[in-house]
Amino acid sequence: MSSSDRGPVRTRYAPSPTGPQHIGGIRSALFGWLFARRHGGQFILRIEDTDRKRSVPGLIEMIQDAFDWLGLDIDEGPRQGGPFGPYIQSQRLDLYQTWAHWLVEKGHAYKCFATAEELAQMREAGSGYDRRYRDLDPAAAKRLASRSQDYVIRFKMPLTGKTSGYDMIRGEVTFDNEQLQDTVLLKSDGFPTYHLAHIVDDHHMKISHITRAVEWLPSFPLHLKIWEALGWQKPYFAHLPVLLNPNGKGKLSKRKGRFAAADGTSVPVLVQEFIDAGYLPAAVLNFLTNIGWNFGDDREIFSLSEAIERFDLTDVNPANSAYPIAKLHWLNGQYIQSADVDYLAGLLKPVLQGAGYAVDEARLRRVAPILQVRLKTLNDVIAMAGFFFEEWSCFTAPATEILFQKKMDGRATRQVLEASIPVIESLADFSHERQYAAFKDLAKKIGYKNGQVFGALRAAVTGQRVSPPTFETMEILGKAESIRRIKLACDSLE
Ligand code: GLU
Repeated sequence: MSSSDRGPVRTRYAPSPTGPQHIGGIRSALFGWLFARRHGGQFILRIEDTDRKRSVPGLIEMIQDAFDWLGLDIDEGPRQGGPFGPYIQSQRLDLYQTWAHWLVEKGHAYKCFATAEELAQMREAGSGYDRRYRDLDPAAAKRLASRSQDYVIRFKMPLTGKTSGYDMIRGEVTFDNEQLQDTVLLKSDGFPTYHLAHIVDDHHMKISHITRAVEWLPSFPLHLKIWEALGWQKPYFAHLPVLLNPNGKGKLSKRKGRFAAADGTSVPVLVQEFIDAGYLPAAVLNFLTNIGWNFGDDREIFSLSEAIERFDLTDVNPANSAYPIAKLHWLNGQYIQSADVDYLAGLLKPVLQGAGYAVDEARLRRVAPILQVRLKTLNDVIAMAGFFFEEWSCFTAPATEILFQKKMDGRATRQVLEASIPVIESLADFSHERQYAAFKDLAKKIGYKNGQVFGALRAAVTGQRVSPPTFETMEILGKAESIRRIKLACDSLE
């Protein structure tokens, strides 16, 4: 394992389980994961559930499932365990309480007894918390503490001066201390806030690089001061740019269906929505890695292992990026095209089953290769190739507007289809190449254009206007089934 001067490389993803796994969070996690893998380090999942009102039970499993689906392995976490657990903050309360009180003892923090009314008054005055309990003389503080257990612990932020820190993506950043309040570290219910909890954990879990969303940059000076007050060596920090809505306006919305792409369609933002929409995990990862970071050489398609070899946090572009969702569609098509056939068939099977088809695996395995250049998402398989799996009892002859080719009516269509049957029967070799040659001859013989004959056959056997190539389709359907479908179409023209 390569190590930094902060010890072995260890990064973490620290979601608050307040809603289903959002793609913006995954993108932040991915950058931390890539960095850890690049350096042979470790990647940790830590659940930050200290906001009890907003935490939703059951989400931890969903978060872990999202990583499993993407194929991003986690070294330590609630499911994996590890030497620095538990990895769920609500199970580590003692630790935060100990350090909060330690900060009070050392004079870096103080107990604040402000009541709800006092706080409301301060809010009305519009001045924020006025630090009224910050400099109580020790006797008064003791008296108050003996009367009330109802206090919070606040950090004593320096009132003047500046705080600077180094961000791996943005370089040196400097803040005026007076901009910051005396932030709450420990709430009256004994739960810590994010500001204290993540520092205590990042220290105890030996995190070497904190990778988190740029929304935390304004609190960066506060965190630097807390690290200093605790006397711990700070890790490196990288504040990652966030995803914006596709139109570039505002942070990518969290909830499904809340916003639309430029063309008015709604776009996926939750991991489950990517799964439901039929995207491949590798395509999603490639897509996300490419936002705010680039592989170089103008390459858009690369594998995760190729990205690991090149990834560096210092190369991340600090600017937030509009969500280029249209690219994912294209990328996904590319990944489907180059996918291993068995893998693809395995992904298509549940999609077809979900649409009610009884899937014959041997047939699916033959269909998958001819679909590869045609599918943009897995779900496209239903419209493109569901007919391969249609039970005979459900199969109906196509409507005439599908069946009739250019300049053809019912009589002409019937003539072509009827003439096709003996051609099929006569072919000992039913390969698509042989069919092509035979039907070309037939077209010539009966005086129709190739397109008219091939089109009528396509419509008859698939029931649709767009499908995989006609003769490859018939080759897979086999002679008997092809003829049966053609006869059904003929009969419908009686
Ligand atoms: N729980 C924080 C959040 O979900 C984590 C931020 C961090 O990575 O430090 O935003």
